[in-house]
Amino acid sequence: MKLSEINILQNVFVSHIDNQLKLADIYFTDKIETILPKSDRSIRWNDIAYPKDRTQFRQAFQSADKPTSGRIYDGNFLLAIPGAIDAHVHFNTPGFEHREDFDHASLAAAYGGVTTVFDMPCTSVPPVTSVDHLNSKYQAVKDRSYIDYAFWGGVSGAMLQHEKETVHHIQALADAGVVGFKVYCISGMDSFTDLTYDQIETVARWVKKTGLTLGVHAEDKQTVLSRQHELQRLGRNDWRAYCEARDAFAESEAVSKLITIAQKTDCHIHIVHLSSERALEMIRKAKSASVNITTETCPHYLHFTQHDFDNPNIQAFLKTAPPVKSEQDKDALWQGLRDGTIDYVTTDHAGCDPLTEKSSSKFWDVYGGIPGVEHRVPFLISEGFKKNRLTLSETIDLLSTHVADRFKLDAKKGALAPGKDADIVLVDMWDRRTVRSQDMHSKGKYTPFQGFELACSIAKTFLRGRLIMDMESKHKDRTKYGQLLRLRDS
Ligand SMILES: [Zn+2]
Repeated sequence: MKLSEINILQNVFVSHIDNQLKLADIYFTDKIETILPKSDRSIRWNDIAYPKDRTQFRQAFQSADKPTSGRIYDGNFLLAIPGAIDAHVHFNTPGFEHREDFDHASLAAAYGGVTTVFDMPCTSVPPVTSVDHLNSKYQAVKDRSYIDYAFWGGVSGAMLQHEKETVHHIQALADAGVVGFKVYCISGMDSFTDLTYDQIETVARWVKKTGLTLGVHAEDKQTVLSRQHELQRLGRNDWRAYCEARDAFAESEAVSKLITIAQKTDCHIHIVHLSSERALEMIRKAKSASVNITTETCPHYLHFTQHDFDNPNIQAFLKTAPPVKSEQDKDALWQGLRDGTIDYVTTDHAGCDPLTEKSSSKFWDVYGGIPGVEHRVPFLISEGFKKNRLTLSETIDLLSTHVADRFKLDAKKGALAPGKDADIVLVDMWDRRTVRSQDMHSKGKYTPFQGFELACSIAKTFLRGRLIMDMESKHKDRTKYGQLLRLRDS
């Protein structure tokens, strides 16, 4: 059902240039119709002494317009940003729903200011390796998402035994609108196995023909497994052993091979969840030599180091592959965001049941994954923009615009501009909120960010013009308006 009446979101700040803001009213149906600035003056972010009592603003900026029909929403002088896009999540429907499912995770996304996610192909059963599997996933997901979603396709190592069929599946999935194809250099999943570098090169040539992206989990299998076996032989089961096996060398070894594959095939290769300075440097060099390669990182790599594994309250909850690295790596990743080497920030959202899957005394056996979709937007605004590591426009680019541009969703998503979907998020930049696992909306309620103070909060989320989350009124419209985005439709 489309919204035909014009609604007005009054009195919001919108990002202008760098750290400049403008006060505006946004007119929208399911699309943004107009954004009317309320004065020519732009205000430097730092110059806004924001009062708890917003009367002063109200007196200065009366909204004259009353729509003849439709609704007025009070923006309350908060910051409006485009609905965020998380290009890397594992929402697990169907198949691994004891850990996470679309109902919970998409609600968590709405609470986190995220209006679009790209769900990975490997953590549903069957994995999205053919159009039949894509359709069965769509049947399971539709009517269960609060937000819009697109699917990654995937190529499992086992498929390389049947090359002809695999070529067919890749083309058919591309035609059916997947955002790209995911492969693993090392995979712990029986239902979605890893590929050798030669196989990845072969797949890259096929994916190149579709014009889509090949997303790769980049850790060198031989390095990781040989070390892991040796450490296990010595009886090592601690977090240090896990981190030793999967260090920066393991990542950069894979990244260097993948850069060569990108050079040889000119397929667009995207390195998912980058964790180290070493691999970042390689990507920086490759990009300056015009290699067709991009990358992303996640909040946990930007915040934690391996010292945090010493904290028993965090230890199991911080486990991911690749693991977080050092202070120096962390600083390098922030620099990578600033200078454009890292294209955007995702979460790699992956939850589990913390009671049963986070309790093993052997760190090797602890489930690896962080449910982060609810925290990424306030995290990046707090730690990036508000700590002067990023400008406001850079922050917005990293949360939405760059993904929309890269995946050709920019006709609909990724910016506040007339003609785009009215995916609008209101951020209270003057609020502070402590992350508490019991407040989370994902199925598994745990996070290494437990107790971390965010220097802003998400106040309202609109999806295609509909208010899907409102902190203030504890808005309870639980209609699931989320729709599948097919790339080839847009
Ligand atoms: Zn992932």
